[in-house]
Amino acid sequence: MGRTDVGGVSSDRPPVNNLQTRHLKILRACLGMRKLLLISSSRVHGSGFLEHCLVAIDEHLQPVERILFVPYALAEHDQYAELVATALHPIGVAIDSIHVAENPVTAVKQAQAIFIGGGNSFRLLKTLYELELIEPIREAVQSRGIPYMGSSAGTNMACPTIRTTNDMPIVEPPSFEALDLIPFQINPHFVDANPNSTHKGETREHRLAEYLEENQTPVAGLREGSWLKLEGDSCILGGKTGMKLFRRGTPPEEVAAGDVSYLLS
Ligand code: ASP
Repeated sequence: MGRTDVGGVSSDRPPVNNLQTRHLKILRACLGMRKLLLISSSRVHGSGFLEHCLVAIDEHLQPVERILFVPYALAEHDQYAELVATALHPIGVAIDSIHVAENPVTAVKQAQAIFIGGGNSFRLLKTLYELELIEPIREAVQSRGIPYMGSSAGTNMACPTIRTTNDMPIVEPPSFEALDLIPFQINPHFVDANPNSTHKGETREHRLAEYLEENQTPVAGLREGSWLKLEGDSCILGGKTGMKLFRRGTPPEEVAAGDVSYLLS
């Protein structure tokens, strides 16, 4: 199959080749290779849902053509699944939403790739615990090596804990411990303080400084429009907006797009 061009997005996606997919999975599993795409936000100002990172998603998911979508961060699942299906259609990726699966654990075990969408991180994590999906997802990503994609709350899930989410604890999960697929925290939708603001509440930077008063794990403040792409021991910051890195005992550091694999060591 040649290059397709649907809805303005070009794709070199090859035909479904089960053998090729299986070989890739086996190879990744043997190498213990995780493959993650952690997006700050599904929406950025001026473009459609997931539009700003669609090329990165296409690359990340090759050669997978079906992805298991996890909509539990929002209360309404059908519409959310439809929104994601429409967004991924131009790159030739179809979705199966876990909320309609007969058995969510089996759905994870059979998935070729997983996408956890954004919304409220507390609600999402609570549901993952309730449905006993934490271990199966971890296993799928770390042992089977299937591609994981998260946006916003879904990105928070990949962190050791959800202690650096921006969300309100509208429900109470049994623990703040998340999937722990990476050795650092991410603060999605990171926003710089406005120097002219008269607002007296904490800035994002203040909140992350408070986190580091109580915790050691570094935090990547990922601005809207940025994402992290992890493959094995490589971690690349993509997008145009960069990130701010917060580490205990050192001033926050501005980081531009490029290789940030040092975050993994
Ligand atoms: N509420 C965010 C989201 O869109 C998550 C966060 O800001 O921590 O998923």
